[in-house]
Amino acid sequence: MTYYFDHNATTPLSDPVLACVSRALRECYGNPSSIHSAGQAARSAVELARSQVAALLNAQPGEIVFTSGGTESDNLAVLGAVRLDGVAGKHAITTAVEHPAVLGACAQLVREGAEVTYLKVRGDGVVDPDEVRHAVRPTTVLISVMHANNETGAVQPIAEISAIARAAGVLFHADGVQAAGRLGTDVRELGVDLYSLSAHKLNAPKGTGALFVRKGVKLQALQFGGRHERERRAGTENVPGIAAMGCTAEQLVQQRARESVRLAGLRDRLESSLLERVPGVRTNAHGATRLANTSSLRFDGIEGEALVIALDLAGFAVSSGAACSSGAVEPSHVLLAMGLTPSEARASIRFSLGQGNDEAQVDALVEAVVASVARLRKLSPVYEHA
Ligand SMILES: *Cc1c(COP(=O)(O)O)cnc(C)c1O
Repeated sequence: MTYYFDHNATTPLSDPVLACVSRALRECYGNPSSIHSAGQAARSAVELARSQVAALLNAQPGEIVFTSGGTESDNLAVLGAVRLDGVAGKHAITTAVEHPAVLGACAQLVREGAEVTYLKVRGDGVVDPDEVRHAVRPTTVLISVMHANNETGAVQPIAEISAIARAAGVLFHADGVQAAGRLGTDVRELGVDLYSLSAHKLNAPKGTGALFVRKGVKLQALQFGGRHERERRAGTENVPGIAAMGCTAEQLVQQRARESVRLAGLRDRLESSLLERVPGVRTNAHGATRLANTSSLRFDGIEGEALVIALDLAGFAVSSGAACSSGAVEPSHVLLAMGLTPSEARASIRFSLGQGNDEAQVDALVEAVVASVARLRKLSPVYEHA
């Protein structure tokens, strides 16, 4: 039995979504492009989901493009906006704390001849809108800033940045993968032109995402073939995944406000207990507005990886402030960009809460962290034993 505290990595399926997926797999096997009734059943499932996802964002159904996930949505937004009519001589602005899906797309734009400015963040993980304003050039065509950070939960000033983008006549993309379902995601209020979602961060299956594309915004497609998704994304639709995403969007519209109050209570209980009972603990992104479900803490003298493994053995799934790429454990680029030293970044752990968590689980987690940190510190050659 594992208590799961890693909802920013992915989430389990909720029961209504599971029911929706199995119904779609059984009943909506037709190709949505076919004109017979089996095809039409699949088409209606896709179009129902499109209106459900649109409702979550206060968008029009025609402004929703289904994709294979958050990574593709980010790629379609960033590459699609800058590649239209050619990349050469164009400039884009993003931040140093974006998800690799945006950073990787920006790196590709640089290889294709664009220039990209990577904005720093303050110590609390938040971008200063003035820095965005100063970075805008006559050649700037896109600003991409995430709504909420997956590692720290820090929420960016999206509405302020969108006002800057609008005044400069520049397209504005926000990666809303972590924000959707947790914050208000009214795209009219946020003022975004492009907004990315991923189903598996929202209690639906992996492999489906969506991109909000404001009416009138043109993108260069990433893949070519049939005329699906109004020629913005060729390929037969992932009908069960899309149906699940619609179902989860509808649940979120109803539950989001109540659930984020509940999660904030659990998160505060977790943080205040750990800060009280464990010496040498600090909150990353302290002082920033943060997602209700996310707590990134650093424990002096601890290797985050070792604590993740110790907690896993004790039956708790959490994540470290590091990414394991090509076998080597690299300190998180997000925490480094906030000014943490590599060892502070490596000493960080992310707890991310979700639907299944309750007070009893949080209290059990606190006990396990207190015990594991004490044990690891005893073994640590560098930790100053008080
Ligand atoms: C998970 C995540 C993504 C990538 O989404 P996938 O569906 O896993 O490709 C992009 N951005 C953020 C902020 C994420 O947390």
